[in-house]
Amino acid sequence: MLKNWIHRNVDEREYLDYHRKAVKEYQQHWEVIARELEWFSPWTKVVEETDKAHVFKWFVGGTTNISYLALDRHAKTWRRHKLAFIWEGEPVDEQGRPKEVRKFTYYDLWREVNRVAYAMRTKLGLKRGDRIAIYLPMIPELPIFMLAAARLGVIFTVIFSGFTAENIANRVNDLNASLIVTADGVYRRGKILRLKEIVDESLKFTPSVQRVVVVRRLGGELSLTQRDVTLDELLKGVPPNTYVDPERMESNEVLYVLYTSGTTGRPKGMIHDHGGYATLLHATMKWVFDARDDDVYFCTADIGWVTGHSYIVFGPLIEGLTSVMYEGTLDFPAPDRWWSIVERYGVTILYTSPTAVRTLMKFGDDLVKKHDLSTLRIIHSVGEPINPSAWRWLFEVVGGSRAPVGSTWWMTETGGIMISYLPGLMLVPMKPGSNGYPLPGIDVDVLDESGNPVKPGERGYLVIRNPWPGMPAAPTGVWGDHERYVKTYWSKYKDLFYAGDYAVKDSDGYIWVAGRADEVMKVSGHRIGTYELESVLVAHRAVSEAAVIGVPDEVKGEVPIAYVVLKTGNQPSEEMRKELVDWIRKNYGPIATPRALFFVNKLPKTRSGKIMRRLMRSVATNSPLGDTTTLEDASSVEEVRTAYEEFV
Ligand code: ATP
Ligand code: MG
Repeated sequence: MLKNWIHRNVDEREYLDYHRKAVKEYQQHWEVIARELEWFSPWTKVVEETDKAHVFKWFVGGTTNISYLALDRHAKTWRRHKLAFIWEGEPVDEQGRPKEVRKFTYYDLWREVNRVAYAMRTKLGLKRGDRIAIYLPMIPELPIFMLAAARLGVIFTVIFSGFTAENIANRVNDLNASLIVTADGVYRRGKILRLKEIVDESLKFTPSVQRVVVVRRLGGELSLTQRDVTLDELLKGVPPNTYVDPERMESNEVLYVLYTSGTTGRPKGMIHDHGGYATLLHATMKWVFDARDDDVYFCTADIGWVTGHSYIVFGPLIEGLTSVMYEGTLDFPAPDRWWSIVERYGVTILYTSPTAVRTLMKFGDDLVKKHDLSTLRIIHSVGEPINPSAWRWLFEVVGGSRAPVGSTWWMTETGGIMISYLPGLMLVPMKPGSNGYPLPGIDVDVLDESGNPVKPGERGYLVIRNPWPGMPAAPTGVWGDHERYVKTYWSKYKDLFYAGDYAVKDSDGYIWVAGRADEVMKVSGHRIGTYELESVLVAHRAVSEAAVIGVPDEVKGEVPIAYVVLKTGNQPSEEMRKELVDWIRKNYGPIATPRALFFVNKLPKTRSGKIMRRLMRSVATNSPLGDTTTLEDASSVEEVRTAYEEFV
C-alpha cells in the first residue's frame, strides 16, 4: 500500500460511513446532484421501475436536453469565450509539429451545433425519435453531430471509424437508421483510410438508409450519388447565428444507442437517456476527475466507445472543461505523440487505457522523460484491469509520482464510472491495480455462486444492488431486445445487476476487478485468474503484453497456457521461454506452471484494445470462434492458431 503522500488527509472510515448513507438514501442523494444541472421543468418522481422488468426511469417527468446542458448553459456565461475543444489532426510537418489545429470556444461549438441541427431538421427532415448512425473519425464534426442530434431529440448510434462495412450494416439495421453521417476519410498512422467507400459497401445491406452526409476531411475527388450530400452543401445558406430551440426531452427519452465492445460475444446495443445519464456524468466528472475551470483535460479514447461518449463529449462539456481531442494514433510520427500533446497544451487530467500504457511502456522511459509532463495532476485508466507494473509506470514515469493514478471500473451499460479513486472528494492510499471504492450512492457487492457476499479478500462476482442514474435506459435497456437485457444482467441473481466480472473486496473495502467472470481457471481445485498470471508476466523486464487462457486437462481439470509479446529489443528463444515459466513459478507458484508458453507478435484484441481471450480459448479447444466482428486484426488469431497447432 502506498502512503498517503498527498495534500489531503483522508479518513476512509468517514467515506465508508458517508457511502453507506448515500446508498441507503440513494434517491435523495442523486436528486441533490441532479438539481445542480438545469431542467426546463422539474421531475415528479426520482425513480420508478417501468412495466419492462428491471428497466428504471430516473427523474420522471423532468425535462432537459443534454445538448443544452453541454453548450447553452456555458454559452450564456463567461465560458462563452472559454475553449471547449482543442483539436489536433494527425499529420505533422518536417519539424514534427501538427499541421492542423482547430480550436472551438463554447460559443463556436454552440453555433456550429445549432447550424447543423437546423440543416438536419430543415434539409434532411429529421425529427425527434428518428434514428441516425454516425460513422465519423476523431474530428470535431463527430461531437458536433452527436450534440446536434441530441438537440433535436434524434437518436444516434456512433460506429467506431475503424469498423468494417459488416459492422456498420449490423448496427444500422439493428437501429433501423435512416441516415449515415460519415467522412471522405481520415488519417491514421500516416495513411489515408477512405471511410466513404466503406459506407458505400455497407449500403448494399442497409435498406433503411435514405441519405448519407459526407464530411470532407481529406478533400480531393469524391464520387457522390443522389443519396449523398456533403456537409458543406448542407450548411450552404445557413447563417452563422442560427438558433434551434433544444427539444424539451423527458429525462428518460433515448439519447443514443451504443454497442458494447464485443469482448465476450455479440455486441449489445445499450440505451442511454438525457437526464439520468447527464446526472451521473456531472457527478463523476466532479468526484473522479476533480474537474476545475483551469484544467486542460485529455481523454485518449476514441469517441466510438462509451468512454469517448461519456468522457470526451458529454461529461467534460457539461462541466465546461477545455478538452484536447486528437485525431490519430498514439505512435505517429513517434510513440511520444501523447506526451508531446500533454506538454504543448499543459494537460492536467489524463484519462487513458491499460492497453495503451502497455504499448507505450514497450518503447522505454526516455520518450516520456524528454517531455515536460509536470502539469499532470490526475491520471485514470479504463477498459481492462491495470496490471500493477503498468500502474507503477503511469504513476512514476508519467505522473512523476505526483498525480494520483486510478483505474476506473465501469462498462457501456453503466453509462459512467462506478468504482474509482475519488480525488475530487478525498484521497486515499492507492493500491496498484485496485479500483478503489464504489462511488457515493453506488451499492457494489461481491457475491459467491449462491448470492452470499464473499469474505474480504475472496474472489466473487461483481454486482450492483440498487439502480443508478445513467443505467441502461427505457424502453428496453438493450435496444429492441428486452429479453437479452434481462437475461444478461438480471438473471444470475434476483433483482441485482450482474456485471459479468469477477472481483475481490479487500479488508479496507477496496474493490479489485480482475477480469471476466468466465476467465477464472480451476487448476487442481485452485481458482486462478488468467489476468493475475498475465500481471505476473508483464512484470517481467522483457514482456510487453501477455494473455493467459485455461485449457482442459484430464488430471488437473484445467491448466494455463500463455501467449507473450516481448518488448522491443528482446528475441524469442528457448531460454527466454524457460525464464518466463520459472518467473511464473517463482512469482505466482508452481501450481500455475503453464503447459505451454508461446511468443507472438500480436494478441487478438477488440478494436477498443481489449484482449479477446475467448478467441484463443476457441483455438485451443478447437471450437468455433463465434462473433469476430469486433476483432481488430484477423492475423493475430492466425498467429495464435499456428503457434498452438505447432505445439500439439
Ligand atoms: P462485451 O460486453 O460486448 O463482451 P466489453 O464488456 O469489453 O464487451 P465494454 O462495455 O467496453 O464492453 O467494457 C466493459 C468491461 O471492461 C467491464 O465489464 C470490465 O470487464 C472491463 N473494465 C473496464 N474498466 C475496467 C477497470 N478499470 N478494471 C477492470 N476491468 C475493467
Ligand atoms: Mg461487457
